[in-house]
Amino acid sequence: MPVPLPTATTRWRCTLCGNLTRFDVTRSSRVVEYVHLDLGGEPSVEETEVLAETVESVRCRWCNAVDRIELVDRPGAGGDQNGSAESATGSGSASG
Ligand SMILES: [Zn+2]
Repeated sequence: MPVPLPTATTRWRCTLCGNLTRFDVTRSSRVVEYVHLDLGGEPSVEETEVLAETVESVRCRWCNAVDRIELVDRPGAGGDQNGSAESATGSGSASG
């Protein structure tokens, strides 16, 4: 069973112990690295292009359960939280 990937509004949660913050992620990736060697032959990777990336398994650091994770909403991730009446400023967001 593939591991569900967290998004901008969701996060991992261990279904056994409730851990939200510490996981060992086994990931396989296929990348292209721009390796720049100096005159002494010492390499350094200046750019990395990820061609494909797969999360194979996630292990909870607290209880060592493997792939026993679920996606839950992040706190304050745009959910319907009531109580605070923020004024809409309408200012533009930064563009990337
Ligand atoms: Zn756990």
